Amino acid sequence: MAKYGLLIDITKCNGCYNCFLACRDEHCGNDYPPYAAPQPYSGHFWMRMLERERGSFPKVKVAYTAVPCMHCEKATCVEQAPDGAVYRRPDGIVIIDPVKAKGHKEILSSCPYRVIYWNEELQLPQKCTLCSHLLDQGWKEPRCVEACPTGALLFGDMEDPQSELSKTLKEKPIEVLHPEYGLNPRVMYIGLPKRFIAGAVVLQDRPNECPEGVNVTLKGSKGTLSIKTDNYGDFEFEDLEENAEYSLKIEQPGYQPYEITIKTHIDIYLGDITLQK
Ligand code: SF4
Ligand code: SF4
Repeated sequence: MAKYGLLIDITKCNGCYNCFLACRDEHCGNDYPPYAAPQPYSGHFWMRMLERERGSFPKVKVAYTAVPCMHCEKATCVEQAPDGAVYRRPDGIVIIDPVKAKGHKEILSSCPYRVIYWNEELQLPQKCTLCSHLLDQGWKEPRCVEACPTGALLFGDMEDPQSELSKTLKEKPIEVLHPEYGLNPRVMYIGLPKRFIAGAVVLQDRPNECPEGVNVTLKGSKGTLSIKTDNYGDFEFEDLEENAEYSLKIEQPGYQPYEITIKTHIDIYLGDITLQK
């Protein structure tokens, strides 16, 4: 028996919303008993796209994180739903039974990820089914995965060592959303957005030049990172810990070194830093 999993590679996601639209195309107005009743045309985000603006002008990035149901191994929705109204299939997919769950709005609050939506017309809690109706027909992947143009979504059998998913899970550093919930999600991530520290170096006596190759060192509790400024005089450290303290040092022969302590409670853009003679 397959054990399905979904891997979302944030570094490949360009925020095109194709996964969200494919989900709507598949489920809006379509009934797939016994797994899902029709999704309403508004208000539901079975594949929700979180958009987070990072940094400050002129160094701004947008991080996109696609968030479906996590199909957790220790699903609180399964534990708390009355009369088996939410259950896990043998392949690991968590399903809200559209008949048994009718009228049970309290099921929404059983999920800490907040990925269950209320269908007012049908009086039904609803969420991603990993397109179980299609998998049962022999499909190899759900609609959202099929629709992704960049390969950011990878679906497969975690029990099959030859599946691309199993191989990728072994090779790459895997993360989950909110590990503190302790629900063992079957939806996993690569490259969840963390913090960055960036800036630009200016030399006091050559203010109109972009100093390339200036040494920039960042010390944190997990070690030291060293880079050089690029041909615009810019530097950037990515994937830093949140709410951690870092010591940044900029050194260039013939100039006074610059040192600062930074706490990464937000992404940090330091702007122009002028090295004095
Ligand atoms: Fe249940 Fe929420 Fe986990 Fe999905 S993410 S399986 S709805 S607890
Ligand atoms: Fe929607 Fe299917 Fe993707 Fe789940 S797996 S988000 S139901 S398209």
